[in-house]
Amino acid sequence: MYDVVIIGAGITGTVLARDLSHCHLRVAVIEKENDIADGATMANSAIVHTGYDPEPGTLKAKLNVEGARLWPKMCEELGLHYKTVGAYIAACGKEEEDHLDVLAKRAQEREIPYRFLSRQEAKKEEPNLSDNVTKVLDFYTTAVIYPWEAACACMENAIENGADLFLNSECTGIEVLEQGYLVHTPQKDLLARTVVNAAGVYADHIAKMVQKDPGFVMRPRRGEYYVLDQDAQPVKHIIFPVPSAAKGKGVLAVPTVYGNTLIGPNSDYIDDPDDNGTSSDGLAYVRTNISKTLNSIPLNRSIRTFSGVRPASDHADFIIEEAEGLPGFINAASIESPGLASAPGISRYIIDELLSKRIEIVPDKEAKRTRKAPVVLSELSEEERNRMIKENPSYGRIICRCEQVSEGEIIDCIHRPCGAISVKGVKKRVRPGMGRCQGGFCEPLVLNILARELGISPLEVVLDSQKSVILESENRK
Ligand SMILES: Cc1cc2nc3c(=O)[nH]c(=O)nc-3n(C[C@H](O)[C@H](O)[C@H](O)COP(=O)(O)OP(=O)(O)OC[C@H]3O[C@@H](n4cnc5c(N)ncnc54)[C@H](O)[C@@H]3O)c2cc1C
Repeated sequence: MYDVVIIGAGITGTVLARDLSHCHLRVAVIEKENDIADGATMANSAIVHTGYDPEPGTLKAKLNVEGARLWPKMCEELGLHYKTVGAYIAACGKEEEDHLDVLAKRAQEREIPYRFLSRQEAKKEEPNLSDNVTKVLDFYTTAVIYPWEAACACMENAIENGADLFLNSECTGIEVLEQGYLVHTPQKDLLARTVVNAAGVYADHIAKMVQKDPGFVMRPRRGEYYVLDQDAQPVKHIIFPVPSAAKGKGVLAVPTVYGNTLIGPNSDYIDDPDDNGTSSDGLAYVRTNISKTLNSIPLNRSIRTFSGVRPASDHADFIIEEAEGLPGFINAASIESPGLASAPGISRYIIDELLSKRIEIVPDKEAKRTRKAPVVLSELSEEERNRMIKENPSYGRIICRCEQVSEGEIIDCIHRPCGAISVKGVKKRVRPGMGRCQGGFCEPLVLNILARELGISPLEVVLDSQKSVILESENRK
């Protein structure tokens, strides 16, 4: 019997699995997809917001501040990218400047560092700021991370401490037992003392398996982006418009950890939670609205568009609570932005405030908190690179020319705990296909490496889901 079964391997589920794996507990994570971090965690702005924005008194405010405080240590322990770029909230005119004062007051109360910049001061740092901008509130400790890397690292650490991960294991039903729950998946049933529902846009669907009326309905909202090439860097800081209740955080420019720039997102309710396409209207909205804060964005340097679906609900706040009348069944729902920034705070809250009332939680002093971070060849000095190549020549064979990813890095990401089993899984972990050619050159090479390392035929290698085979048949022997 598991002490905790977590449904959903996004950032909420994987950070929680890691924290629980540092205690004497049997933990399992079930994920319906063929890889972890395939939901909202895969497609977002990647910002560790400092916590100035959420309304006072909300769980969002509390857990965002707490999460942002915990991220740097977690990144250090797991060898993750964490780049402090700073965030400019750019006001245009008196009314928006007044709202900057509201945000500054919140920041002061939450002990979040900030400073005001005049238009001239801000322009010196960011020459591309629009002439409409009259004043800037600078949250200079704001950072960006690599969300999939974080989820993979947390899951890897949890697995190394004994947690089980079951991919392609959609939760199809839950039985309430006297002493816990029986979680059904097509492959197997898992007996659990407690269950955490971290199923993102499907959180209401899971809750309804045990609750007649969970008291919330998920209302997924899609956000679309442009990704600019690494050498088109129109901004150094994250540039936000002033947030509003109606439009949320608005359309941003975000410098990412690897030097690309994201431009987006819009915010549109959608009927199908799995609809992560892009639309001409959505991208037109992004183009129009980015011009409010920035003068010229080189959208002709866009190498890709994508969208992410926010696990939003009919509630404004996060819903993190034990379901009524169901001891140990915890819903972690409505985890929209700032869910990524809050993830370490959400995990601590679930453990300290909710799970600890139902199961005994004893820290395991022997549990590993760190991991051997993967090599990122392009970040090493020439001397270090040469040493690596001498030790293992596969680090000398460059597979992805755009991102300078070697065969050695790809092999490593396949064989790590929670390793890649699809072309997209490799792309998420070590970036072949993320660059200018978007996989045009390297994808066939990645496919062959996957086949060889997994001991399967190239015809069996999938792009992403189990059904997404790439090659239909051999046409030449
Ligand atoms: C456009 C956009 C921009 C954002 N920007 C930011 C930002 O800059 N900063 C920030 O802090 N937050 C941001 N967010 C919010 C953040 O991405 C989310 O809050 C966070 O990723 C939610 O993580 P999660 O693990 O709760 O959900 P998800 O990542 O969606 O994970 C849920 C998982 O559950 C699985 N699942 C669903 N149903 C089942 C089932 N029946 N059985 C098994 N598994 C199941 C799914 O496949 C999925 O893997 C943004 C979100 C979007 C969409």
